[in-house]
Amino acid sequence: MDTNVKDTPSAEIKRLFAKQTNFAPTLKSTTVGDRLKKLDHIYKYILDANNQSKLKAVLAADLGKPEVEAMTSEISILLNSIKDIKHKLRSWMADKKVSSPLVFLGTTSKVHYEPKGVALIISPWNYPFQLCINPLLYAIAAGCTAILKPSEYSQHTSAYIADMIASLFSEEEVAVCQGGIPTSETLLSLPFNHMYFTGSPTVGKIVMKSASDHLSSVTLELGGKSPCFVDQTVNIDAAAKKIVWGKFFNCGQTCIAPDYILVPTSKEKEFLTALKKHLQAHYDADGKGIKNSPDLGRIINEKHFDKLVSLLADAISKGANIETGGKYEKGTKYMEPTILTGVDMEADIMKEEIFGPLMPIITYDDVQQAINIVNDKPKPLALYIMSGSKKYTEHVINNTSAGGTVVNDLLIHFANHNLPFGGVNNSGIGKSHGKHGFMAFSNERAVMNSKISASNLLHPPYTGFKRKIASLMGKWI
Ligand code: NAD
Repeated sequence: MDTNVKDTPSAEIKRLFAKQTNFAPTLKSTTVGDRLKKLDHIYKYILDANNQSKLKAVLAADLGKPEVEAMTSEISILLNSIKDIKHKLRSWMADKKVSSPLVFLGTTSKVHYEPKGVALIISPWNYPFQLCINPLLYAIAAGCTAILKPSEYSQHTSAYIADMIASLFSEEEVAVCQGGIPTSETLLSLPFNHMYFTGSPTVGKIVMKSASDHLSSVTLELGGKSPCFVDQTVNIDAAAKKIVWGKFFNCGQTCIAPDYILVPTSKEKEFLTALKKHLQAHYDADGKGIKNSPDLGRIINEKHFDKLVSLLADAISKGANIETGGKYEKGTKYMEPTILTGVDMEADIMKEEIFGPLMPIITYDDVQQAINIVNDKPKPLALYIMSGSKKYTEHVINNTSAGGTVVNDLLIHFANHNLPFGGVNNSGIGKSHGKHGFMAFSNERAVMNSKISASNLLHPPYTGFKRKIASLMGKWI
């Protein structure tokens, strides 16, 4: 059994939703200080040594997450988000004056940011703490109430989240509903003001359909196949080192992991040698075997493990070669970092998001060939370019589309709060992080204040003078 998490009864979900609906207007008038105080409570909770060691333990129980990965990708990211919000919330919340057209002389115009209201946050299992709490930080910053539905598969972390939220918030402001699909379905049937979903494109479509029943706005942080271009001009050894890190971090279960690598045919051999060298250096420096490395995570559950095994088997049956790796052990959900060459484009591994430690290497002779492979698939969440050439880099950027791109590194754009984070079409709708996160949970309300009633000039009866004004309006505006 992959989960023991019980679904939250639908009557309980509806009770919480009604309570938050009643409470949301109270939050609308909260000040910068009120909201920052709440974020501070989360900050202090995460920073507390006892809470932090429990958090690392639940992440290890769910994913075998190494401590360094827990610190960098779950804990520090959140602490930095809170610090960033603290610096900027006052300016994000402040009304923004805009000019008015000449024809409305005597009016003032501004954009006022109001909380959308009651928010739903559904999160996945791969970064189970951070991907649930990070959107919550922005919901709080915007003045929304929130119901969180963490993943049923990362059950230890989900229980931790439920305890943390219960100790910091009243349920009318933030509540957690644990459970699987039945819990999600009840939540999705309710008229939330905003639904913030992180997960697969398949479930993202279900969320968007449900949202359309109430015209709830959505942020969909999805996934897909993120390519990594390797160019002739790059230092192959340095690129391979970064790719090994970016691919096998969290055992390949990262939405922005490089899914497959595009390498010039002439560089394939050198690249494979470098990949093998760095794999050994990262996970088997002491020669005790990769399986014994404390730095490699585990697959989340048997269902996902079986899917990865079948992707590997299908690739091999269609002619792929295992360059290194290929071993796995179901009992411990261990899967060896595996590099594949000669992969058929029709193999499932080149059609579905891999989301595990399997890495196909695809060769190309001309960059257009590589671009065509990427453009034949839905637009990715991330696209990486390893190149020493500005011309190559710009050519790839200008001829592809992606949610985000990093040149000569991987994953790091996630941690820059000044950049929008999100996908495009199949890899996501809407952006988050920094101001974009605040905006996801805010309504930009247009406010125009007329001091001398400009519209008087346009009221009926439509005399010749008013017709003249109307015809001049196009010119004045
Ligand atoms: P998932 O879509 O299966 O599940 C995500 C959430 O949706 C879970 O809480 C789950 O309980 C719920 N859910 C599952 N099936 C549902 C259904 N039929 N109806 C309603 N709710 C349902 O995703 P996952 O397996 O947890 O995570 C992996 C996916 O998430 C990958 O595609 C990955 O790329 C993506 N992801 C994206 C980001 C991002 O920031 N863009 C981050 C992490 C993961």
